[in-house]
Amino acid sequence: MNTTMDENYFDNIFTLFSDRLADFGSPLPSVSTIAEEDNDPYKVLVSTIISLRTKDAVTIEASRRLFAIAPDIRTLASLDSAVISEAIKPAGFYKRKGEQLRKIAEIIRDEYNSEVPSDMDTLLSLPGVGLKTASLVLNLGFGIDAICVDCHVHEIANRIGWVSTKTPEETEKELRRILPMRFWIPLNELLVRYGQLVCTPVSPKCSICPINDSCGKKGVEKSR
Ligand code: SF4
Repeated sequence: MNTTMDENYFDNIFTLFSDRLADFGSPLPSVSTIAEEDNDPYKVLVSTIISLRTKDAVTIEASRRLFAIAPDIRTLASLDSAVISEAIKPAGFYKRKGEQLRKIAEIIRDEYNSEVPSDMDTLLSLPGVGLKTASLVLNLGFGIDAICVDCHVHEIANRIGWVSTKTPEETEKELRRILPMRFWIPLNELLVRYGQLVCTPVSPKCSICPINDSCGKKGVEKSR
Protein backbone atom coordinates (compact mmCIF):
# COMPACT_ATOMS: atom_id res chain seq x y z
CA MET A 1 0.00 0.00 0.00
CA ASN A 2 1.17 3.53 -0.73
CA THR A 3 0.23 5.09 2.60
CA THR A 4 3.16 6.01 4.83
CA MET A 5 2.92 3.63 7.74
CA ASP A 6 4.21 5.88 10.49
CA GLU A 7 3.05 6.26 14.08
CA ASN A 8 0.18 8.61 13.09
CA TYR A 9 -1.05 6.13 10.52
CA PHE A 10 -1.30 3.29 13.04
CA ASP A 11 -2.77 5.63 15.65
CA ASN A 12 -5.49 6.53 13.17
CA ILE A 13 -6.27 2.91 12.22
CA PHE A 14 -6.36 1.72 15.84
CA THR A 15 -8.79 4.54 16.69
CA LEU A 16 -11.00 3.87 13.65
CA PHE A 17 -11.17 0.13 14.39
CA SER A 18 -11.85 0.69 18.12
CA ASP A 19 -14.63 3.17 17.32
CA ARG A 20 -16.23 0.74 14.89
CA LEU A 21 -16.06 -2.11 17.43
CA ALA A 22 -17.75 0.10 20.03
CA ASP A 23 -20.83 0.09 17.75
CA PHE A 24 -21.18 -3.65 18.35
CA GLY A 25 -21.53 -3.33 22.13
CA SER A 26 -19.95 -5.96 24.37
CA PRO A 27 -16.95 -7.72 22.85
CA LEU A 28 -17.09 -11.41 22.07
CA PRO A 29 -15.09 -13.57 24.45
CA SER A 30 -11.45 -14.37 23.70
CA VAL A 31 -8.37 -15.31 25.69
CA SER A 32 -8.21 -11.61 26.58
CA THR A 33 -11.47 -12.14 28.47
CA ILE A 34 -9.64 -14.50 30.83
CA ALA A 35 -6.83 -11.97 31.22
CA GLU A 36 -9.28 -9.15 31.95
CA GLU A 37 -10.82 -11.22 34.73
CA ASP A 38 -7.44 -12.19 36.15
CA ASN A 39 -4.01 -11.24 34.79
CA ASP A 40 -2.53 -14.45 36.21
CA PRO A 41 0.17 -15.66 33.75
CA TYR A 42 -0.80 -19.25 34.65
CA LYS A 43 -4.36 -18.69 33.43
CA VAL A 44 -3.23 -16.89 30.28
CA LEU A 45 -0.82 -19.73 29.44
CA VAL A 46 -3.37 -22.48 30.02
CA SER A 47 -6.26 -20.77 28.23
CA THR A 48 -4.05 -19.91 25.25
CA ILE A 49 -3.04 -23.56 24.88
CA ILE A 50 -6.70 -24.59 25.12
CA SER A 51 -7.58 -21.96 22.48
CA LEU A 52 -5.47 -23.50 19.72
CA ARG A 53 -7.82 -24.91 17.06
CA THR A 54 -10.79 -24.16 19.31
CA LYS A 55 -13.59 -21.60 19.05
CA ASP A 56 -13.30 -18.68 21.46
CA ALA A 57 -16.54 -19.40 23.32
CA VAL A 58 -15.53 -23.05 23.83
CA THR A 59 -12.10 -21.93 25.08
CA ILE A 60 -13.60 -19.64 27.72
CA GLU A 61 -15.95 -22.30 29.09
CA ALA A 62 -13.28 -25.03 29.00
CA SER A 63 -10.79 -22.74 30.78
CA ARG A 64 -13.30 -21.89 33.49
CA ARG A 65 -14.07 -25.58 34.10
CA LEU A 66 -10.38 -26.39 34.38
CA PHE A 67 -9.58 -23.44 36.67
CA ALA A 68 -12.44 -24.53 38.96
CA ILE A 69 -10.54 -27.77 39.70
CA ALA A 70 -6.99 -26.47 39.13
CA PRO A 71 -6.69 -22.84 40.27
CA ASP A 72 -2.87 -22.91 40.21
CA ILE A 73 0.07 -24.67 38.61
CA ARG A 74 0.72 -27.05 41.53
CA THR A 75 -2.84 -28.35 41.47
CA LEU A 76 -2.73 -28.77 37.69
CA ALA A 77 0.51 -30.76 37.97
CA SER A 78 -1.13 -33.08 40.50
CA LEU A 79 -4.07 -33.98 38.25
CA ASP A 80 -4.24 -36.99 35.96
CA SER A 81 -4.06 -35.89 32.33
CA ALA A 82 -7.37 -37.70 31.66
CA VAL A 83 -9.06 -35.47 34.27
CA ILE A 84 -7.63 -32.37 32.57
CA SER A 85 -8.79 -33.63 29.16
CA GLU A 86 -12.28 -34.28 30.48
CA ALA A 87 -12.47 -30.75 31.95
CA ILE A 88 -11.48 -29.05 28.70
CA LYS A 89 -13.57 -31.26 26.39
CA PRO A 90 -14.80 -30.40 23.67
CA ALA A 91 -11.78 -28.15 22.97
CA GLY A 92 -9.88 -29.26 19.86
CA PHE A 93 -7.35 -32.06 20.55
CA TYR A 94 -8.48 -32.14 24.17
CA LYS A 95 -6.78 -35.48 24.86
CA ARG A 96 -3.41 -34.31 23.59
CA LYS A 97 -3.82 -30.94 25.33
CA GLY A 98 -4.59 -32.71 28.63
CA GLU A 99 -1.23 -34.47 28.44
CA GLN A 100 0.55 -31.32 27.30
CA LEU A 101 -0.90 -29.17 30.09
CA ARG A 102 0.02 -31.75 32.73
CA LYS A 103 3.60 -31.95 31.39
CA ILE A 104 4.00 -28.16 31.29
CA ALA A 105 2.64 -27.84 34.82
CA GLU A 106 5.12 -30.46 36.08
CA ILE A 107 8.05 -28.68 34.45
CA ILE A 108 7.05 -25.27 35.83
CA ARG A 109 6.47 -26.75 39.30
CA ASP A 110 9.75 -28.67 39.36
CA GLU A 111 12.11 -26.38 37.48
CA TYR A 112 10.68 -22.88 37.96
CA ASN A 113 9.37 -22.98 41.51
CA SER A 114 5.77 -23.01 40.21
CA GLU A 115 6.23 -19.57 38.59
CA VAL A 116 5.37 -19.22 34.89
CA PRO A 117 8.59 -18.03 33.17
CA SER A 118 8.54 -14.41 31.97
CA ASP A 119 11.04 -14.65 29.13
CA MET A 120 10.43 -15.71 25.55
CA ASP A 121 13.15 -18.36 25.26
CA THR A 122 12.09 -20.26 28.38
CA LEU A 123 8.42 -20.14 27.39
CA LEU A 124 9.29 -21.47 23.93
CA SER A 125 11.20 -24.36 25.55
CA LEU A 126 7.99 -25.68 27.17
CA PRO A 127 6.38 -28.61 25.30
CA GLY A 128 4.16 -27.46 22.46
CA VAL A 129 4.45 -23.74 23.31
CA GLY A 130 4.89 -21.69 20.14
CA LEU A 131 5.41 -18.04 19.36
CA LYS A 132 1.74 -17.11 19.61
CA THR A 133 1.28 -18.65 23.06
CA ALA A 134 4.57 -17.28 24.42
CA SER A 135 3.81 -13.77 23.10
CA LEU A 136 0.33 -13.77 24.58
CA VAL A 137 1.64 -14.86 27.99
CA LEU A 138 4.22 -12.05 27.91
CA ASN A 139 1.61 -9.51 26.74
CA LEU A 140 -1.40 -10.32 28.85
CA GLY A 141 0.22 -12.12 31.77
CA PHE A 142 3.23 -9.90 32.36
CA GLY A 143 2.54 -6.68 30.39
CA ILE A 144 5.79 -7.20 28.44
CA ASP A 145 5.95 -5.83 24.89
CA ALA A 146 5.61 -8.64 22.36
CA ILE A 147 3.62 -9.05 19.18
CA CYS A 148 1.17 -11.92 19.30
CA VAL A 149 0.19 -13.06 15.81
CA ASP A 150 -2.72 -15.46 15.55
CA CYS A 151 -4.83 -16.25 12.48
CA HIS A 152 -6.83 -12.97 12.74
CA VAL A 153 -3.73 -10.76 13.05
CA HIS A 154 -1.96 -12.63 10.24
CA GLU A 155 -4.93 -12.40 7.90
CA ILE A 156 -5.92 -8.78 8.56
CA ALA A 157 -2.33 -7.47 8.40
CA ASN A 158 -2.00 -9.12 4.97
CA ARG A 159 -5.42 -7.99 3.74
CA ILE A 160 -4.73 -4.35 4.56
CA GLY A 161 -1.24 -4.54 3.09
CA TRP A 162 0.85 -3.93 6.21
CA VAL A 163 2.75 -7.10 5.39
CA SER A 164 2.95 -9.59 2.57
CA THR A 165 3.72 -12.86 4.28
CA LYS A 166 2.81 -16.53 4.17
CA THR A 167 3.05 -17.57 7.82
CA PRO A 168 2.24 -16.02 11.23
CA GLU A 169 5.96 -16.28 12.08
CA GLU A 170 6.89 -14.13 9.08
CA THR A 171 4.10 -11.70 9.97
CA GLU A 172 5.43 -11.36 13.52
CA LYS A 173 8.89 -10.57 12.19
CA GLU A 174 7.60 -7.97 9.73
CA LEU A 175 5.30 -6.32 12.28
CA ARG A 176 8.22 -6.01 14.69
CA ARG A 177 9.95 -4.00 11.98
CA ILE A 178 7.12 -1.65 10.99
CA LEU A 179 4.88 -1.32 14.05
CA PRO A 180 5.88 1.19 16.76
CA MET A 181 6.30 -0.62 20.08
CA ARG A 182 3.39 1.05 21.86
CA PHE A 183 0.99 -0.81 19.54
CA TRP A 184 2.48 -4.27 20.15
CA ILE A 185 0.37 -5.24 23.16
CA PRO A 186 -3.02 -3.80 22.03
CA LEU A 187 -2.62 -5.19 18.48
CA ASN A 188 -3.74 -8.74 19.22
CA GLU A 189 -6.89 -7.94 21.16
CA LEU A 190 -7.95 -5.26 18.67
CA LEU A 191 -7.48 -7.41 15.56
CA VAL A 192 -8.93 -10.56 17.14
CA ARG A 193 -12.13 -8.63 17.91
CA TYR A 194 -12.06 -6.89 14.55
CA GLY A 195 -11.66 -10.31 12.90
CA GLN A 196 -14.60 -11.71 14.88
CA LEU A 197 -16.97 -8.85 14.05
CA VAL A 198 -15.93 -6.95 10.92
CA CYS A 199 -12.94 -8.35 9.01
CA THR A 200 -14.26 -11.88 9.30
CA PRO A 201 -12.28 -14.77 7.75
CA VAL A 202 -15.03 -15.52 5.20
CA SER A 203 -16.70 -12.57 3.46
CA PRO A 204 -15.47 -9.61 5.55
CA LYS A 205 -17.89 -6.71 6.10
CA CYS A 206 -15.91 -4.19 4.03
CA SER A 207 -18.98 -1.98 3.46
CA ILE A 208 -19.00 -0.97 7.14
CA CYS A 209 -15.21 -0.85 7.57
CA PRO A 210 -13.81 2.68 7.98
CA ILE A 211 -10.79 1.89 5.78
CA ASN A 212 -12.84 0.38 2.94
CA ASP A 213 -11.46 2.89 0.42
CA SER A 214 -7.79 2.49 1.29
CA CYS A 215 -7.56 -1.22 2.20
CA GLY A 216 -5.66 -3.44 -0.25
CA LYS A 217 -8.13 -6.31 0.43
CA LYS A 218 -5.44 -8.78 -0.57
CA GLY A 219 -6.88 -12.28 -0.83
CA VAL A 220 -10.48 -11.09 -0.30
CA GLU A 221 -12.59 -12.77 -2.96
CA LYS A 222 -16.01 -12.01 -1.53
CA SER A 223 -17.11 -9.27 0.86
CA ARG A 224 -20.27 -7.79 2.29
S1 SF4 B 1 -11.81 -3.14 4.14
FE1 SF4 B 1 -12.48 -5.26 4.34
S2 SF4 B 1 -10.62 -6.50 4.15
FE2 SF4 B 1 -9.97 -4.40 4.61
S3 SF4 B 1 -9.76 -4.34 6.85
FE3 SF4 B 1 -11.81 -3.62 6.34
S4 SF4 B 1 -13.11 -5.45 6.49
FE4 SF4 B 1 -10.96 -6.15 6.35
